[in-house]
Amino acid sequence: MNNQEKTLIFMYIYNQRVHMERELSERQARLRCRSISETECIEYALLHERYNTFREVTGHIMALLNMDEKKPVNTCIICGREISKDLQVCSRCYKRYKRV
Ligand SMILES: [Zn+2]
Repeated sequence: MNNQEKTLIFMYIYNQRVHMERELSERQARLRCRSISETECIEYALLHERYNTFREVTGHIMALLNMDEKKPVNTCIICGREISKDLQVCSRCYKRYKRV
């Protein structure tokens, strides 16, 4: 697998993760504001479980491709530019590849 293919996989994982985290926190915020039904509770639990499974599977994929996100790096995995510790790609690379 070449670097461009790895980059595509990474961007897919990254975008999907951001999307799921946003969905989770929006749902969490809605639940906090009022009393909730059992259905909403189950929906939230299912969403959370989907997210956990996603993190587990993509963690294995990243490890297999030597892109392990737990690496204590603070450089962009695409261009090597310095970035804050909780990020994997710089904003320039993110903007460039998110359109793919
Ligand atoms: Zn970069």
